[in-house]
Amino acid sequence: MDKILGALNGVEFTIGDTLLELSYLIAALLFVVGLKLLSHPETARRGNLWAASGMGLAMVTTLLLHKDAAGNGIPLTNVWIIMAAIGVGAAIGWTIARKIKMTAMPQLVSFYNATGGAASALVALLEYPNALAGDVGSILVTVLGLIIGSIAFSGSMIAYGKLDGKVGDIMKPFITYINLVLLVVTLGLGAYIIFSPNPPAEMVWAIYALLGIALIYGVMFVMPIGGADMPVVISLLNSFTGIAAAMAGFIYNNQAMILGGILVGAAGMILTILMCKAMNRSLLNVIIGAFGGGGAALDKDQGTIKEITLSDAAVLLSYSQKIVVIPGYGLAVAQAQHIAHELDTLLEGKGVEVRYAIHPVAGRMPGHMNVLLAEADVPYEKLVEMDDINPDMPNVDVAIVVGANDVVNPAAYDDPSSPIYGMPIIDAHQAKNIIVMKRGMGKGYAGIENFLFFNDKTRMLFGNAKDSIQKLVSEIKNM
Ligand code: NDP
Repeated sequence: MDKILGALNGVEFTIGDTLLELSYLIAALLFVVGLKLLSHPETARRGNLWAASGMGLAMVTTLLLHKDAAGNGIPLTNVWIIMAAIGVGAAIGWTIARKIKMTAMPQLVSFYNATGGAASALVALLEYPNALAGDVGSILVTVLGLIIGSIAFSGSMIAYGKLDGKVGDIMKPFITYINLVLLVVTLGLGAYIIFSPNPPAEMVWAIYALLGIALIYGVMFVMPIGGADMPVVISLLNSFTGIAAAMAGFIYNNQAMILGGILVGAAGMILTILMCKAMNRSLLNVIIGAFGGGGAALDKDQGTIKEITLSDAAVLLSYSQKIVVIPGYGLAVAQAQHIAHELDTLLEGKGVEVRYAIHPVAGRMPGHMNVLLAEADVPYEKLVEMDDINPDMPNVDVAIVVGANDVVNPAAYDDPSSPIYGMPIIDAHQAKNIIVMKRGMGKGYAGIENFLFFNDKTRMLFGNAKDSIQKLVSEIKNM
């Protein structure tokens, strides 16, 4: 029997209630420790496990110990339905996560983020009739949960489509005005619901209208954002999902949900700010400034493309003192991280210093290059952040650009018409020699030309990055 331990503000609490609260506290601690461990590649895997076990604990104790206002536990039938849903969800998540290619990971993260937003919006929708029977506070969190969750859902689905190359950008300037109107209507309708004294039956249309408008706003909000600004919008949507989950936690007065949501919301917001700094843009500018395309077109006088042979590249690298590898999205596509590590070990054996320059938005998700290189066991000390490596670039004998494009594009410095103008880049152009490994003259994510490839110091090694490095390794070994 669940023994009554005492009463607080007239409400009795039992051993079960106390255990439940305690388990939420432990879950919250596990989330915090997990987040801390996630901040370093060496401990990130453990961090994931700690946070997941916190979530597992909160789920199990809720199923076993949660009681409604009348003191009844969750009905057994509902427990079975919930367990079946968890089982199906876990099986789908497990299968997708095992099968997904590393290059499709960013899309997957966006898709999962969308499901988090949808879940919070559904909670708000279902609990809306109960909220109407409560005070203004309960309606407020319900309406906010619905708005933010819906925007996170539809916005993340568009981000998923863009990262997957299924959805293009809409650059029309008038979209900004449409979005402004949509935002005002969404907030206005939300305020109307919160402060309206009307009875529930008359308000049902309003909540569905709010759901529809918020979903449309999510789509329209992400549509014009593209090119190099995507990392910012992805972390912002991630933060929205966290905030929506926290609102759902307020609806159920569930501390674990509130805390988990706030942690995700805050972490996403910090990441958004860091990404904005990395792009040298304000958040407002990212949201309302249409991005992508543009930039100077290729000019015949710009210089010519020069290629380098494998044997010349092998000699150049072997007789250098300082080499910096600049990895980008192409490294992920080619899955060249393991062979890149073999190359750096080989060169270090010849007394060459090899470091990796990490741009905060290289690849297609925050920390993409760190994850890839950690997977290949590249020692973390060899990874140098952009701000630390740039001052040393003029002393570097060879900068090897492996499948990077936008993050080394000097247009960021000298082409005011370029959409990436002002974005900090890795100064590959400052190195004494530059070798660029890519398959052809394909553009990067921002869809613009890169004059680094026409630089006098640059020589191109065309081909799949993995094959090129593999051949280079053999060439150096045979020297
Ligand atoms: P880019 O997208 O600018 O360029 C990648 C280059 O890799 C292409 O030019 C392509 O050229 C080359 N490439 C593709 N496949 C291969 C292969 N198999 N072997 C060799 N080369 C290959 O990458 P960056 O990392 O420089 O920049 C990232 C961009 O993505 C930025 O604009 C960033 O804002 C954006 N972005 C970043 C996100 C993040 O969170 N990090 C999220 C969303 C967008 P070719 O076809 O000729 O081989």
